[in-house]
Amino acid sequence: QEIVPEKIDYVFKVVVIGDSAVGKTQILSRFTKNEFCFDSKSTIGVEFQTRTVTTKSKVVKAQIWDTAGQERYRAVTSAYYRGALGAMVVYDITKRQSFDHVARWVEELRAHADNSIVIMLIGNKADLVDLRAVPTEDAVEFAEDQGLFFAETSALSGDNVDKAFFKLLEEIYGGIC
Ligand code: GDP
Repeated sequence: QEIVPEKIDYVFKVVVIGDSAVGKTQILSRFTKNEFCFDSKSTIGVEFQTRTVTTKSKVVKAQIWDTAGQERYRAVTSAYYRGALGAMVVYDITKRQSFDHVARWVEELRAHADNSIVIMLIGNKADLVDLRAVPTEDAVEFAEDQGLFFAETSALSGDNVDKAFFKLLEEIYGGIC
């Protein structure tokens, strides 16, 4: 449990996007509350959650936005992207289609978000090793090609979730300071 510091140096807005059911909501609750809920479905209306961390000796409040299911209707609006300094584009390593759609999500970001946005590609559900449908190398290649950072995570076990967010926040900080 972290002590909430009195002084916040920066607030960074981060958006989480990707196909439905890839684990966006669970990644967010793992990072902000260290929780994983089986069969939870995000409540429409909850727009973002926050966690305050220290990175590079600065106190950074990460304000992380969840699509709250809007992606199912392809109705993620430009308001969602407005002011975002970072993005996590999530796919499910067991669902090839969710990886094939990543290019579209990146295009959507390039169209609606700020040019300098830091993008991290996330292959989630890395705990489901026997069901893997997306080789790590495919994602590494795509990420290199598109200039994205990349990590495989498990919101279920918590593996790499903090590490991925910290990397993203550090890169955002490095870009503005
Ligand atoms: P969203 O629609 O992208 O927000 O996806 P959810 O966060 O609602 O997750 C969709 C489903 O995948 C739920 O049944 C979760 O329990 C499950 N899930 C999410 N993350 C993981 C993970 O890392 N590992 C496994 N095994 N299941 C996960």
